Amino acid sequence: MSFHGALSHILWPQSCPLCGRLSKAICPDCLIFLVEKNNPVCLECFRPFPCDSHGKNVPFLVFGALHRKEAKQLVHMLKYGGNKALGRPLGRVVAQTINLPKEVDCIVPVPLHRKSGRPFNQALEIARGVSEILKVPVKDGLEWTGGEKPQVGKASLERKQLSAGALRLSGKITDSTAMSVLLVDDVCTTGTTLRRCAEALRSGTLHVTGALVWTLSG
Ligand SMILES: [Zn+2]
Ligand SMILES: [Zn+2]
Repeated sequence: MSFHGALSHILWPQSCPLCGRLSKAICPDCLIFLVEKNNPVCLECFRPFPCDSHGKNVPFLVFGALHRKEAKQLVHMLKYGGNKALGRPLGRVVAQTINLPKEVDCIVPVPLHRKSGRPFNQALEIARGVSEILKVPVKDGLEWTGGEKPQVGKASLERKQLSAGALRLSGKITDSTAMSVLLVDDVCTTGTTLRRCAEALRSGTLHVTGALVWTLSG
């Protein structure tokens, strides 16, 4: 632990939210216990990737755990409990545990809806952890177009009817070279949000190769 880390630990002692041991954000033992070495699935139908119906040209989806018990509890702490420091370790452990079936050049987080009222984007925090492991940059380049209501609760979290054009490039991605993108979010329920993000990125020079989430729900 760095001097600054040690000092902040004394001033603001942190403990692992799952086992209570003194630790920064969450202890590695608890994280490793939660993450499963899940095989990638097809983002269209959630069958093993590549599936017979959609093949290799649709995005894959990798996830660290199913959205239940402690894994779900961590999402709530990160998202609604304001525990920002949890994001990076979640991203790191998924990226460390699961081999992506294809290479990626950059990471794009699902953006935070501006009406959400939350102080930070949990998907961006997870994306930063993934970036540390994969050694590719995070490009926070998507935004909601507006008109969509903030999505709260499981049923509305990923509405199946989420309209086409709900997301767009924010103008922060200025690269003119073609790049393959890994989308990152905290939870995937129906996959609609991730698919809408993929469509929005397709209008630029970016191609979504796959998506990584902490938990898979539904
Ligand atoms: Zn722990
Ligand atoms: Zn499929």
